[in-house]
Amino acid sequence: MKIASLNTWLPLTAEPLLIAGPCGAESLEQLVATAKDLKELNKVSLFRAGVWKPRTRPNAFEGKGEEALKWLNEIKKEFGFKITVEVANAQHTELALKYGIDVLWIGARTTVNPFSVQEIADVLKGVDIPVMVKNPIHADLQLWIGALERINNSGIKKLAAIHRGFHVYGKTKYRNEPMWQIPIELRTLFPGLPIICDPSHISGNKELISSVAQKALDLGMNGLMIESHHNPSIALSDAEQQLTPKNLGELISKLILRKPISIDDSVIDKLAELRNSIDEVDEELINVLKKRTHIIEEIGAYKKEHNITIFQLERWQEILRTRAQLAQKLGVSPNHVEKICQLLHEESIRIQNSLMNK
Ligand code: PEP
Ligand code: MN
Repeated sequence: MKIASLNTWLPLTAEPLLIAGPCGAESLEQLVATAKDLKELNKVSLFRAGVWKPRTRPNAFEGKGEEALKWLNEIKKEFGFKITVEVANAQHTELALKYGIDVLWIGARTTVNPFSVQEIADVLKGVDIPVMVKNPIHADLQLWIGALERINNSGIKKLAAIHRGFHVYGKTKYRNEPMWQIPIELRTLFPGLPIICDPSHISGNKELISSVAQKALDLGMNGLMIESHHNPSIALSDAEQQLTPKNLGELISKLILRKPISIDDSVIDKLAELRNSIDEVDEELINVLKKRTHIIEEIGAYKKEHNITIFQLERWQEILRTRAQLAQKLGVSPNHVEKICQLLHEESIRIQNSLMNK
């Protein structure tokens, strides 16, 4: 993927990029009231509002469509915000371009469908507009990358990914599980791709937003998209998770910013020293693993000689129990140790199996 960095299409300040605005554009009055308060925060780079709302069930507020694009132009003129809207098909995209929307985003329900993403990409051929792609509803990194690639193949280089969490069945703490390892893997694969976190759709309620936003910053994400409505209690969609601009301002002011690197020599030296220690411990760990492998090979050969099965349930239960107990005693997470034991056991069985069947 050829990707332009975020600051080629949005001003990056010392603070994280902040995208804010209501879940849905409901009326010109609602947009003006919200934009006015957001403007006062002096921290919002991009004003968001859904114009077509993909709703799970019919008869919910589905957005005001083209009419709302006109309102958003008023907001742009009156408050000087750049505007972003969600597009889900070719027609939405054509209309958004016609009304001079500054940045497009593709929603989670659209990213899952390569046909829809491709039809949006086709409209964007030869157009120079930034596009942000939300992760698909379910935890499929390839599908997320695929959508970014389809847009990128149309010549769009001003790309960003939006992490909005992943649906899991049943009641959970989050509306959408963050599964942080997925955006981290995306960052590892495409280091130049800006990633913006959407704590609103991860949280699903007002209370969790600040901790999710802080975690996103701790992981080095490039910005936040947070839903804000001048009066959330009367919002026509996502009322539970929208913050008033005032609450948003308070939340942002409490976030702790972390730098990707330090320029302070003493900090760099101390970190290098600690990393050296980790390198040494990892080397020790691998040496211990080597020792363990030798013993497993001996056990495997002995079992073969005496025609004993590889898997011994009582022994396995004993390993799990005693290791968890020791972990607890030493202040290491028993859950973590159990996962490591599972991996060790799998490897032990693999080694013994190949020995027995030689
Ligand atoms: C939204 O941003 O309002 C929205 C519909 O989000 P998502 O696509 O993440 O569900
Ligand atoms: Mn929403």
